[in-house]
Order: sequence, then structure tokens, then C-alpha cells
Amino acid sequence: MPRHDLRPRANDSPRDIRLIGVASALGAPDPGCAQAPDALAAAGLERSLRRRGCEVQWQEILRPAPLADDMTALADVCQRLAARVAQQLGQGRTPVVIGGDHSCAAGTWRGAARALAARGPLGLIWIDAHLDSHTPETSPSGRAHGMPLAALLGYGDARLTGIAGPWLSPGHVCVVGARSYEPEEAELLVRLGVRVFFAQEVKRRGLAAVLREAQAIAAEHTAGYGLTLDIDVVDPSDAPGVSTPAHDGLSDDELLAGLAGLNGDPRLVALEVVEFNPRLDSAFRTGRLIEDVLAGLLGPGQEQLIALEERWGAHNYAPLPVVLTRGEGAWLWDVAGRRYLDMMSAYSAVSLGHAHPRLVQAVTSQARRLAVTSRAYYNDRLPLLLKRLCAITGLDRALPVNTGLEAVETALKAARKWAYQVKGVAEDKAEIIACEGNFHGRSITIVGMSSEAQYKDGFGPFPPGFKRVPYGDTRALEQAITPNTAAFLVEPIQGEGGIILPPAGYLARCAEVCRAHKVLLICDEVQTGLGRTGRWLACQHEDVRPDGVILGKALGGGMMPVSAFVARDEVMQVFRPGDHGSTFGGNALGAALALETLAVIEEEGLVERSAVLGRELLERLRALRSPLIREVRGRGLFIGIELEPTRADAYTVARRLLERGLLTKDTHGTVIRLAPPLVIEREDLLWAVERIRLVLDKLAARAELAA
Ligand code: PMP
Repeated sequence: MPRHDLRPRANDSPRDIRLIGVASALGAPDPGCAQAPDALAAAGLERSLRRRGCEVQWQEILRPAPLADDMTALADVCQRLAARVAQQLGQGRTPVVIGGDHSCAAGTWRGAARALAARGPLGLIWIDAHLDSHTPETSPSGRAHGMPLAALLGYGDARLTGIAGPWLSPGHVCVVGARSYEPEEAELLVRLGVRVFFAQEVKRRGLAAVLREAQAIAAEHTAGYGLTLDIDVVDPSDAPGVSTPAHDGLSDDELLAGLAGLNGDPRLVALEVVEFNPRLDSAFRTGRLIEDVLAGLLGPGQEQLIALEERWGAHNYAPLPVVLTRGEGAWLWDVAGRRYLDMMSAYSAVSLGHAHPRLVQAVTSQARRLAVTSRAYYNDRLPLLLKRLCAITGLDRALPVNTGLEAVETALKAARKWAYQVKGVAEDKAEIIACEGNFHGRSITIVGMSSEAQYKDGFGPFPPGFKRVPYGDTRALEQAITPNTAAFLVEPIQGEGGIILPPAGYLARCAEVCRAHKVLLICDEVQTGLGRTGRWLACQHEDVRPDGVILGKALGGGMMPVSAFVARDEVMQVFRPGDHGSTFGGNALGAALALETLAVIEEEGLVERSAVLGRELLERLRALRSPLIREVRGRGLFIGIELEPTRADAYTVARRLLERGLLTKDTHGTVIRLAPPLVIEREDLLWAVERIRLVLDKLAARAELAA
């Protein structure tokens, strides 16, 4: 994998994009693609591109005039098209031509070449399954959709070669992806010196690499270049709506990832997308692909998106400089088409990986049925989830909320009310004990419990009734307990704290202490729960059944917030109607998703998988023996690499790992956190270890040199 280049692109002023439709299939055997511009307009192409950050307007849709014959009518459309394209370019806009069959290219690029002639020749990247370089003499069908490239180079029917504007110069033209053509076409192009990247070469080198070379051919010593995309370069399985399909094409993802490398290139002056036949694409998949292509090429790129967020967002996060746009399993892609292994899974929220097909299905089908009704009514999904949550935790009742902190608040409220109603603590005297180094969320009450100065700074005053004891110290816990103590709130492993494991037997001993003093033991398993540490719940490693368990993150399948507080009867029965609630908590959509999430964890054996893969990952990381590593610790796929603070800082390591395609997160300056999706492939984990080794070795070598 090449080293990732995060330098800003040259041009960040937004393009003024004009869509020009060509409702012509005069060159093709099937008239269907004449409908493409109207179909895309009706589907809201302009609106959706605007939503994706493009400044765009439909200029017009050109329609063929009823003339003597197809070639004459086509030449007429092409003349008009060339004039429109030249006009838009002359006004500094980016024309985007939506065919029609590919014969319209004979107009688009003559117009573009004409507009730029004073500045130099026009370069052109021609992405296509075919070569489109027939002349009437060589064409088996006599159809003009096989002729536009030859015509642009000055060969073929005089009506096409005679369109106003310079012919293209072959040295600045290249074809990418050809896999279905006649030898005469290839001969002509090769003779003229057009570089053809045949499909085999694209497969072998990857589209992105080929397009980088194509970009150099088209952009160097030219006034700029155009890109014409025959959507049939994509395999029919991914682009069913094309007029002349050819098998063995690129996948839609390959196309998008490859094109992403051209985003933001100011030398790209115009674009053309052709051969979409909406009649063959009832699900409009190809239509959406075209939308993705346009947004990917012309919409805001990584640097612009980061700048937008910096300008319009609050600065309460400092993200690593990568803009993600797509995920599948353990892999994520950025807007420039680079691929990353997700070793973070959104702090365990994406334990099942990105876009798990069963979860996508569960969410979409439930969204179509019923999503939110509030708890003013029952819905037919929540009851099943509540029962399942109790089965998993061995507890009696569950209370569903949205985010983790709401579930923590719910637990705190339950504990206090329990203290007054059941334990008999005097009014407003209840105390809750938490741990040094805890993380339970960001509400004012919860940060009030925190020992991290920054989390509290400027947010006081905080509610009273909370104490802290050192994590891992049961004696301190016992000493802190008073007759007013309602609950001890603890993470079985401190995640945000830096993957801190308490001493063996800690939780079991805490449970004994709590029981002896009639104090509730509440485990915050928002991050450690649902398989993350190799058991359903991390407290099960010590056979502890707490009085209450807080679940979140992974419960929502990485798709939406679903959290819950689950507790013993005695605790949960303190709530009466009206005591506590939330509009979205327990909604049918979230409940259906959580149910499917739990089913997938069980049926795919993800808990066991986390244990097995986690053990191997831990061993392999320990075996790195890097001088930069002080300790590797963790349980299941929940691992922290503690760096030697004098030799490396975690942010730098996370940045270097990002550049090598690995997404991790630094915590507390010295810890690299690893929490990959539990569905991650073993080979991918091994690849991650290699990346980590590489980065640490390089940094160690540099430190040595500096020393
Ligand atoms: N508890 C723990 C242990 C957590 O790790 C987190 C989030 N990192 C929370 C609670 C809060 O969850 P949320 O961000 O969904 O409010």
C-alpha cells in the first residue's frame, strides 16, 4: 500500500457546475439511453448533488431534431452540444454532459477543445469498456456510438469530424478499461499514439494507479483535460442499466475509489457520463452510481470537508485528518478512495463491523414498517428486546434509552431511589461511589464524578452525592462505604482511561464488599459489554452478577444509539410511570436493530471470536518487543499499547498508523487503543500487527538517530 498523501489539494473554491443533458440515442441500437437525462433529472440529481456540497444547476436537455437520417440528426445535436459546452467553459463553469449514448462525445469534446484552444490542446481521459474508434468503413454495425473517439481524432464520417473545434491530439488522449473492441479500433488508436490502458492492465495495477498515469497524459502540456465515462466500464452486476453491457468490468466501488483520486484537480475542466439506460434499471442502481461518480469527482474533497467542519462546527473534537465515506466489515474508505482497517470500531460501537448485511436489512425493513411512536404506546419490538437483555445479563428488568450516558444517568437515578425506598437512606443523603480514572459519559452529573480535570473544567457546579476511590483497590472501596452509600459504579476494564485492567479477582471482591454492606454493584459495560472482552459481559470473567448492568455502544449495531440499564427487580421496581423516560428510548427501530445485533453476535460466535483473536493479537503485539512499548494489555479484542512516554507519543503513532492505513486512537498521550470489529478477519489483524511493527520500528530508528 502506498504511503498516504494528506497534503491539501490545489484548488478549494467550489465549482460552478452546469448539467447539460443529451436526450439522444441516435448512435445506439437501443433507444433507452435517450431517457437518461430526464430520468436523472426526475430522480432529483441536481438536488442530491447540492446536498452533497456541489454548486450545480441543470442548464438544459438537448433533444434531437427530426432530420433526414440518424447521422445528420446526431451531427446537429453534437454541434449544439459543442456550442453549449464551449459557452459554459468560456464562463469559467464546469460543464457536465449527461448522455445519451456515447456518440454525443463527438460534440462535447470538440466544444471543450474550442473553448480552451487559445490556452493549449485539450487532454481527454476516455473510460469505457469499448474503444469507440470505428470509422464507418470498419464498423460492423454502422452505429455512431462506436465512432466518437475516432471522430474526435479526425477520422470517420465528415459530419462528425466536421463539428466546429480542433481535433484532439492523440498524445494527450488515453483510454481506460477497454475490454470489448474490434482489432481495427485498437490498431487505429495505437497507430495514432493514443495510450490505451486495457482492462487487464487496470485489473492488475488498480484503477487509481492507472488514472494517475492517465491524468499525467491528459493534463501535462495541455490547457486542461476532460473525462468521459461510459458507465459500461462497470460490470453489469453493479451497473445493470447500460446500453451495451460487457462482462468482467470494474466493480462500482473500484470505479468510485479510482475516480476519487481526481477529486479537486482544477485541471479537470469538464465531465461527461454516458450510456445509462434507465429502462434496464428498475431499481435505479446505475442512476445512483452516476450521482456518486459526480459527487465524488466534483463535490468537496477531503481538505474542503475538513475546512467546512472547522469553520462551521464546534471544536470539541480534534479528529485525525481523514474523511471517511464508506465502510464494509472491518474496512473503511476515505473520500479519496483510500482504504483503512478500522482498529477502533467507534469505541466498540461498531463491534459487528460496518454495514453488516443483516443489520442493514433489519434497519431498512423496520424503518419501512415502524420507527418511532414514543412510549405513550407499546410497540411490537421493544418487549422482545427487554426479555433478551435480561437473558443475556441474568437480570430481571431492562430500561431502554439512547446513548450510554443516558443509561448511566438512569442507573444513578435508580440507585438513589433504591437507597431511599429500599435501603432506608435519609432524604437527599444517598451517596454513589465511582472510581478514579472512570469514564461514564459527559453530562454535568457524570463529569462531576470524573477525575479528569479537563472534563469538568468550566462546567461546575456539580451535583453532590458522589465520591471516588482508586480503581482496583477494594480496601479503599470498603473504607469509603457509609450507611448512606447507594451504589458502587465501576467499569470492569477502564476503556477511556486507557484500557486499564484491575487486579485479578477485583470485581468478585467488589461484589462481596457491596453485598456485605447492602450497596448496589453497578457495572458500566457500555464499552466492555456484548463480546468485546471475549465474554458476553466483562464481569462474567469473574462470575460476577451485578445488581445493575449498563449497556450501550455495540447494542445499536453501529448504526444508531441504543443503550439500556438492566437490573434486579428490587432496583428497577423503584420506577413508577412518569419518574423517568426519553422520547426515543425503546423505539421500535432501535429495538429491532438491537435484537438483530444480539442475534448476530450469538449466531456468528462473535464472543468466542473476540476471545480467540484477542488472545492472538495480544501475544503478537507483546512479541513485537519494541523499545517504544512499555506494556501491552487487554482482554479479548480490547487492547491498549502503552508507549514509553519519553520515546514516543501516542498521537504521533496514531498519525503514522493512519498514513499506513490503520485507524486507531491515542488516549491520554501514551496509549494506543485497539478495539477492532469482532468480525475482523484474522489475516487483517496480522496485517495490522505488521503495520504497527513497521511504524514503531521507523520511529525507534529515528529516535536512535536523534539520540
Ligand atoms: N460508559 C462508558 C464505559 C463509556 O466508554 C462511554 C463512552 N465512551 C459511556 C459510558 C458514554 O456513552 P455515550 O457516549 O453513548 O453517551
